[in-house]
Amino acid sequence: MAKAVIALGSNLGDRLAHFANARRFLSTLSTVPPEASSIYETEPVGEASTHPYFNAVCAIETELDAMSLLDVLKRYEQEYGRDPSAPRWSNRTIDLDIIDYGRQVISRQRLQVPHPEYGNRLFVLVPLREVLPGWRDVRSGQTVDELIASSPKIEVSKTSLKW
Ligand code: ATP
Ligand code: CA
Ligand code: CA
Repeated sequence: MAKAVIALGSNLGDRLAHFANARRFLSTLSTVPPEASSIYETEPVGEASTHPYFNAVCAIETELDAMSLLDVLKRYEQEYGRDPSAPRWSNRTIDLDIIDYGRQVISRQRLQVPHPEYGNRLFVLVPLREVLPGWRDVRSGQTVDELIASSPKIEVSKTSLKW
């Protein structure tokens, strides 16, 4: 059993419905109800992306090993209508990234944990702090507050949406 932290993103179509469906899906992978952050709205990053994002973080307890978890998340994204051949950072219905898996460091071609970019992304760090305020980076030992302070400033607005 491992605690896994998943970051959700969506900027296409009915973002709230995509989030509610993804949360239900994550609960099927978890032995406990997922601990979910609020939904945050974020301006898009990267040239291939044009619409504002919803972002959130969910923590689950899963019996899946890390590679199996990646496989089921990728399968869900594809079944949910994401185009696997679209360029990285394109507009997408749902993106599910593994931020952490059991506080392990994994460096495989298909899976890097902790997620290599999370420490630079306020849209991950801010919801992460809401769910896990005592979070520390497994490699550097930096607290989530320290990571937030040194991360590029972008606008991340907390919404009061229920999901
Ligand atoms: P980014 O990874 O910068 O957030 P992205 O989410 O748009 O970009 P994707 O197209 O969803 O990128 O994924 C590209 C590949 O990243 C996936 O096929 C997967 O094998 C790999 N990957 C590596 N580490 C992770 C991780 N921790 N979580 C999810 N995917 C990962
Ligand atoms: Ca991503
Ligand atoms: Ca992804």
